[in-house]
Parts: sequence; C-alpha cells; structure tokens
Amino acid sequence: MHIAQRMSRLGTETAFEVLAKAKALEAKGKKIIHLEIGEPDFDTPTHIKDAAADALFKGYTHYGPSAGMLEFREAIAEYFTAHKGVPVSPDEVVVTPGAKPIMFFGMQAVIDEGDEVIYPNPGFPIYESVIDFIGAKPVPLILRQENEFRADVNEIESLITPKTRMIIINTPQNPTGSVLTKDDLRRIAELAIKHDLIVFSDEIYSRIIYDGAEHVSIATFPGMKERTIILDGFSKTYAMTGWRLGFGIFPKEIATLVARLQTNCTSCTASFVQIAGIQALRGPQNEAEAFVQEFRRRRDIIVDGLNGIKGITCVRPHGAFYVFPNIEGTGKDSKFLADYLMNEAGVACLSGTAFGAHGNGFLRFSYANSIENIQQAVKQIKAAVEKL
Ligand code: PLP
Repeated sequence: MHIAQRMSRLGTETAFEVLAKAKALEAKGKKIIHLEIGEPDFDTPTHIKDAAADALFKGYTHYGPSAGMLEFREAIAEYFTAHKGVPVSPDEVVVTPGAKPIMFFGMQAVIDEGDEVIYPNPGFPIYESVIDFIGAKPVPLILRQENEFRADVNEIESLITPKTRMIIINTPQNPTGSVLTKDDLRRIAELAIKHDLIVFSDEIYSRIIYDGAEHVSIATFPGMKERTIILDGFSKTYAMTGWRLGFGIFPKEIATLVARLQTNCTSCTASFVQIAGIQALRGPQNEAEAFVQEFRRRRDIIVDGLNGIKGITCVRPHGAFYVFPNIEGTGKDSKFLADYLMNEAGVACLSGTAFGAHGNGFLRFSYANSIENIQQAVKQIKAAVEKL
C-alpha cells in the first residue's frame, strides 16, 4: 500500500521498543531489571480506583463533551488556581486521554509549516517528532551537564529568529530530572514577551520534586498566561499511566480549537476516568506525597551507586524519576552501552540518543523500581562495565 510522505517525518518513543526487547529476552528465561520505562511502579491509590468503579456503576459509560466534563474541568481549574497560583477557568481546560495529545493537538493548533520551534535536546522525543510531523522546523536547545541540564537562557536567546513561534520547556525534565529556577523562568518569560513567542510548558512532573526545589509555572509571570500552553496530567503524580488521563490549559480561543481537534480524533476522554480524576485532585494526597518521598530515597541510591562506577558520572537531579549519567569515560557510545547492559548485565535502560542527538554520551535510567532492584542493578552494571 502507498505510504503517505508525512509518515517519514514521524518519530517514536524508544522506551516502548526497549521494553519489548526486554520482554522478549525475559520470555527466553533471562532475568531483566527494568529501569527503562517512565512510569511509577506504585499502584493507583485505592480511593481513586473506588471512584472509577463507582462511576461505572452510576452510568458514566457514555460520551461526554470533547473538552472534558464540566465538573472535572472545574476541579482542574480549582486545583491549578490553588496549587500553582495560575488563575484558571474551566473553559481554558481541555481533558485528553493521557497528556501526550496536548502536544499533538496543542502544536497543531498554533504552529504553521515553516515556523521554528525551540525544544530541549536531550528531551522528551515526542516534541521533535510532532514539530517535524506538522512541517515546522525543530531547533534544538542543548541541555548541558555543566549547567545541571538546565536550559541556558542566553543560548535560547541566540536561537531566536524572526521565524521562531514557540519555546518548549519541561520542568522537572525528562530525561535529566533538571528543574528550572524561578530566575531561569522569569528570564525565559521576558524573552517570550520581547519576541512575541508562545511557551509550551510541560509540567507533568511538577509534583515530583525534591530537596526544597520549587516548581514554578511560567504562566505565573505577568503577561505569560495568555501566551502559555500548559501540559499536565495524572500519569506520574497518581501512578495512573494506564488510565490515560491528562489535560492542557490554553487561552480560551485555543482551548476551543483543541477541543475541536479532539472531536475529530478521540471524541472525548473516558467519562468514568474523569470522575476518578476528580477524586484524585480533591481526595487525600498522602499516597501521592509518599511516592515522592520514596522516589527521593531511590534517587540517592542510584546516583551514589552510579558515581561509584569507573567511567560514569551522574548529576543528582532535583525532580522527576530519572537519572542521566555521563558514560563517556567507559569509552563506549550510548547505544552500544545500553544494548550491552541489557544483554550482559540484565539491566534495561535507554540510550541518551533516544532523547535526541545531544543525548549521546549519556544513558537514562528510570528509578521507578524497588530499592532492592536498584541496588542489584547497580551491582550488575558495575560488574559489566568493569569487563569492558
Ligand atoms: N511529558 C513528558 C515529559 C513525559 O515524560 C510524558 C510521559 O512519559 C508525557 C508528557 C506524557 O504523559 P502521558 O502518559 O500522560 O501521556
């Protein structure tokens, strides 16, 4: 069958491919420790599951509005206003199956072919893929280890041209765990206003943050809310990856267009899942908070463990649940080492290049696994690297 030309511009997310490879090895009897996939290993809190079950039996089994059910959008608006200091009204919210469609729909709504979009590299691979797919030009903003993988605002400024339409930021960041400071964000906001740019702010890890670091939404700066698209969701904070529940916050006229894109694509997000989302936001937060405490313990174990291996140096990140160690000292490239660790050490991780060309020289480990497994993985990695 003929394949449309645009498909050659559509990228992918390597994590799913590596997971499939690891599963194939497991099927052959090999033991693999999974540090590749970006999802909490915790179970969704019971009160959220109960709310979904109850909603199913109360008849939330039908289509709902494309933008999301009003009572859910009200809960999101209330949450954002109270917790992030961004005054939001329900008609600025669009609910989607997972947060990922906010990238796809959000960029379709505001980016033209030929526009330039500055995006973090290494960064979540879907940004570059979607920018390319819609015929815009991806302009990589290199995140450097010497700056703890925070975006360098002077470098952003040097990348801006008359064609720049959007800057994508992600804090805390995947894959590096870096957190932008309030001052970084203030300076990015000033640039956006000066050059009349849209900011796409991916805040999916905003609740997974350590060491007193503060998550600040760029939309809180004066003049920013009207030029910011915020992506957020339930996958990471509430261990709800498989539920597919996310949302975006947009200026009202853009929210209407994004809802129309959703009408054309998925119609709406599952109704009973949205009722569970209300419970997640308004119910007890103690389990979500306990997840963060546990992630912080694991972070310290993996960072200390990796720094104890010759040839590897690892920055201690302040957010998300990933580490991004530099492996140049092993003398091997990232792809080789990721494959080698899977086959030789029985540890699945991702090559830094899964997050863009500027991820070469690094690996990404997700520490969404038990302390026991992380300790065992570090031991096995050390033994395998020593054999190189
Ligand atoms: N943004 C970033 C930076 C992510 O890492 C992810 C998931 O890995 C998403 C967005 C998408 O989340 P969801 O599973 O809710 O679609």
